[in-house]
Amino acid sequence: MNNIRRDITEDGICVLTFDRPGSSANIFDRATLQELGAHIDQIGTARGLVVTSAKDSIFVAGADLHSIKTMSPADLGDFIRLGQDVFNKIAALRIPSVAAIHGAAVGGGFEIGLACDYRIATPDRATKLGLPETQLGIIPAWGGSTRLPRLIGVPKALEMILGGKTVGARHALKLGMINEVVSREYLLSAAFEWIGKGKHRNRLSHSAPVNAVLDKLVAPKARADVMKRTQGHYPAVLKALEVVIKGASDWRESESLARERAAVSELIGLDSTRNLLRLFFLQERAKKLRFTPRPISEIPALEGAAPAVLPGDEIGRAAVIGAGVMGSGIAQWLSARGVRTIVRDIDATRVGAGMANISKLYADSVKHRVFTSNEARAGFERVYPAPGEVSLRQSGLVIEAAVEKMAIKKTIFQRLDELTDEQAILATNTSALSITELASATRHPERVIGIHFFNPVHKMQLVEVVRGRQTAPAVIQQTLRFVQKIGKLPVLVKDSPGFLVNRILLPYMLEAGVLFEAGASIEEIDAAMVAFGMPMGPLRLIDEVGVDIAEDVAATLSMAFPERMRVPQVLSKLIAAGWLGKKSGKGFYLHEKGSKSEPRVNPEVEVFRSGKARFTPEELQRRMVLLMVNESARCLEEEIVEEPADIDFAMVMGTGFAPFRGGPLRYADQLGAPQVASQLSLLAEKIGPYFEPCALLKAINRRPFYED
Ligand code: NAD
Repeated sequence: MNNIRRDITEDGICVLTFDRPGSSANIFDRATLQELGAHIDQIGTARGLVVTSAKDSIFVAGADLHSIKTMSPADLGDFIRLGQDVFNKIAALRIPSVAAIHGAAVGGGFEIGLACDYRIATPDRATKLGLPETQLGIIPAWGGSTRLPRLIGVPKALEMILGGKTVGARHALKLGMINEVVSREYLLSAAFEWIGKGKHRNRLSHSAPVNAVLDKLVAPKARADVMKRTQGHYPAVLKALEVVIKGASDWRESESLARERAAVSELIGLDSTRNLLRLFFLQERAKKLRFTPRPISEIPALEGAAPAVLPGDEIGRAAVIGAGVMGSGIAQWLSARGVRTIVRDIDATRVGAGMANISKLYADSVKHRVFTSNEARAGFERVYPAPGEVSLRQSGLVIEAAVEKMAIKKTIFQRLDELTDEQAILATNTSALSITELASATRHPERVIGIHFFNPVHKMQLVEVVRGRQTAPAVIQQTLRFVQKIGKLPVLVKDSPGFLVNRILLPYMLEAGVLFEAGASIEEIDAAMVAFGMPMGPLRLIDEVGVDIAEDVAATLSMAFPERMRVPQVLSKLIAAGWLGKKSGKGFYLHEKGSKSEPRVNPEVEVFRSGKARFTPEELQRRMVLLMVNESARCLEEEIVEEPADIDFAMVMGTGFAPFRGGPLRYADQLGAPQVASQLSLLAEKIGPYFEPCALLKAINRRPFYED
């Protein structure tokens, strides 16, 4: 028993401090719950209870998901009941209780707070409150689905629970989730004051007419919203809705808690839940990813000198070259994470435009409560505009984000030899060009690496770290650490055309163009893929990325893989017409500036269609998805990454590939290997050899990609 410390104050208040030994996080595993239960049993004559945490950034991070992974359904049922029982004990105390929260209080970490009479929290960035369970394919089942609606009302609770949202303390106060925002140094004394206010019950009691409104209006609308948003692919969200609505009209808490338990037992066996939980573990893995170089003898053609260790592990200063969409996005992200960042472009006007974009990103982040205006100002002050060439000495990292042209990038890298310190990491944000070739332009190819951010930088968590043939192990190591430090999730990939994500995504986007030309409508193509579970259809995605950019990447990849990546003419026809997608207001869709409604299809694109073929949604999905599966298997074959999980993780995080399906290779396993190969072979016969399954998929007696 040592996960929770118990102290009794002079005036008889029991303070339970969560402080899991040897860890920066508190979690609820069986032992911790039992320990908590024992403390509550021994509370004796205390006149109040305060629960708090000794950790810097975590109050309690919720249930121990690792142990859930291996539990039998019966064990899981016991585990949920244990949590409910212990939290019920807190709720039933005759003395007042307060959760004094600093750091993340999510899932079970927030549910213990819901069992208390009062919740107070610090305004710090680390403090996040909410119930993200539905994102993991389960529902809040330690009282969250029952008690949050009673605390803040059904509509707001549904928004939090169905969205799996977490919010900062100020937002939580507005929603009524907490009672007060208090700075960390006064957290405990404020908690004691709340104890002085006496017992309080979090009960909104609903009258019969209110229940009728819930049943007749709120529930159907929420259900329709969920179906639209999830296409019915996320059963946990629907289940949570059902439990919350039932719990709101049936006020017996014990009945609602029983429904919470039943829901999780039902959900845990679903493939979609397993895939979402796996994704969570893959994110945790990416946060800790380290590069373990194989013995030198096994690394193919390690040429050039490679410094063993780079001095100055911490990168406090960086420079970004190119202040366009990506360069300004990267500079904003770095500066917001404490890195002093020089922003350079070819002239003052472009640097000015980049700075304006950075300023807008900060303003938006204040509007969305990501930063306070003071934090945003401090971040913006860490950006140093440089209209033209300046010395980059003291910049531990240079990230080139100029236009996607090898010749221009090479010129920039050549100059970096003169402008940077000997130890600086020279990175490029290229989407598809060869890191190894680019590295050849410098005297220090061992310092060159790809750091491929995705657009928009502030929203996309994934970063591909691309190692060239000569990139030094220490440079890879330090880059991974840097990417993790700025709060992104890295996937380590080998240099090859399009790296991993674009290489797998491109055949899918190209096929959408091919299908359009053959006769499928824009709506049919995009609707088929949204129904599959993609966040948006492929033609809409081309518009978002920019038709010209998509064609640039396609050109690089079709040069590398001419036999299977041909660019449909519709792309160059759109470019010739000046329809570059969202940025020019027109592409496959019409994009009205500032409009919040879904863009309408651009009817003028119809003239670029040549065929009249008709397709079912299944045919459309099969052709587009199987090309991604095939390319994923090829990347594995070519050892672009080490394991299938790297590919699935990167595709879900980098492209939004239907998370509940677990990624392209997981999906292939679900279809079954022989199915995938035979369907691809059929398509190859019927449509063209570019569907030919790769050797790995064709291998007889091939094992599934995953062994579990
Ligand atoms: P962009 O056209 O918005 O910006 C490029 C900027 O580079 C321009 O401001 C240009 O003036 C500047 N530039 C050109 N030559 C320069 C030079 N010699 N020195 C300094 N600056 C120079 O392009 P972008 O979309 O920001 O793309 C930048 C890079 O990022 C490209 O390599 C692209 O492939 C890659 N990328 C783009 C995306 C995307 O979705 N847009 C995503 C990932 C990676």
